[in-house]
Amino acid sequence: MAEAQAAIAARARPSPREGEVERGARNVVMFLGDGMSVPTLAAARTLLGQRSNRTGEETQLSFEKFPSVGLSKTYCVDSQIPDSACTATAYLCGAKANLGTIGVLAGVPRYACEASLDPAQHVHSIAAWALQDGRDAGIVTTTRVTHASPAGAYAHVADRDWESDADVRAAGHDPARCRDIAHQLVNSYPGNQFKVILGGGRREFLPNDVVDEEGAPGRRQDGRNLIQEWQLDKIDRNVTHQYVWNRDQLRTVDADLPEYLLGLFEGSHLQYNMEADAETEPSLAELTDVAIRMLSRNERGFFLFVEGGRIDHAHHDNLAELALDETIELSRAVERATRLLAEDDSLVVVTADHAHVMAFNGYSARGADVLGPSDDRDDDGVPYMTLSYTNGPGHRPHTDHRRTDVTQDADYRAPQWRSHADVPLAQETHGGDDVAVFARGAHAGAFGGVLEQSRLPHLMAYAACLGPGARVCDRTDQH
Ligand SMILES: [Zn+2]
Repeated sequence: MAEAQAAIAARARPSPREGEVERGARNVVMFLGDGMSVPTLAAARTLLGQRSNRTGEETQLSFEKFPSVGLSKTYCVDSQIPDSACTATAYLCGAKANLGTIGVLAGVPRYACEASLDPAQHVHSIAAWALQDGRDAGIVTTTRVTHASPAGAYAHVADRDWESDADVRAAGHDPARCRDIAHQLVNSYPGNQFKVILGGGRREFLPNDVVDEEGAPGRRQDGRNLIQEWQLDKIDRNVTHQYVWNRDQLRTVDADLPEYLLGLFEGSHLQYNMEADAETEPSLAELTDVAIRMLSRNERGFFLFVEGGRIDHAHHDNLAELALDETIELSRAVERATRLLAEDDSLVVVTADHAHVMAFNGYSARGADVLGPSDDRDDDGVPYMTLSYTNGPGHRPHTDHRRTDVTQDADYRAPQWRSHADVPLAQETHGGDDVAVFARGAHAGAFGGVLEQSRLPHLMAYAACLGPGARVCDRTDQH
């Protein structure tokens, strides 16, 4: 009772006085939980509470306290169930596209290198809109910075897998014509203007005869070292800059921030939080903190994209605990951001690109271990997990027409232990259900309702009065 009344009081705001308009957002931070479906949220909040010895279900992830929530419809132009590329085009560039394509309209079929070169087919991201308005922009991710989601902020490409020139060549195209994603990030607008780029993926930037700082080889066949090219470009422009590749260096840079910062902390993706060495690997919250402080120096404001990208990877492997833990890490990063940014001049949006097929099921009692078996049994009396999957590599063949009792597995409940799946597939699939959108700050109320995913950047642009949004917002109310 008291909790409900307090929640109502917290959300009841004085309505604007006559003639007074809500001020626009100077800063916009968009958090993306890759594959962070609604059941993932429910299970992650329960785990978060249970880790503090509570029943769990009543716990809130940081962004679940935001005043506005809506649903985003995630289908793409040619796909009922989408991927991270066409959805990135929707939530960053404002147009639905074909599966696997980034920053191009649906006139570009996947793999169509030539068609993707037509500037009329290019759509530009809210990061580019922010730069054109004199604000700053940046990206943070736990995946390779060339992976599909962050690439939506800067790339125009007919296939998400063209992360280095080797991939473009392997697809039978000329990488000098259809540029790979890493090349676009370093050498093309708007990526070459990003003040902060933090994530993984060194291998896409280094030649294949060079090993990176941790001994992993590069993948490029064109002999180019794009990390050096990024540095040379900043030297040419006479701006201060720093490249870092580990947590110690990030902390050193933190004391005296350069104008431009490139941090690549792994050859490929960052490690799962539960498997990473917390002493040597930066957390998503730490990366977000540095990025916001880098960008906050621009008086006009900024756009920042932050991705918890490995929720998706864990789900694809039926690794429920890792997926939930990565979701909790995203929640921590959002919490850090809300502490750094004032609600009256910054808009924070948290959403997902698509769902997954993890089910939160059975009839367990309140407070039951969310990572454990259901209190219920199947019709043959065999236990089943509260979190299980429709499909994926966790499938176990039936014996004597009965399901396998997975609680008897030798590695049961290890982080890399797979929950069970009905349909055998090497990779669990995405889901076609809607995902949630949470918003806090200027014009947060605009994010309620059932939204086409491609409307999100238009709403953010409206709230911040930039890009296509500048046509409809009231400039006079800007900071
Ligand atoms: Zn995926």
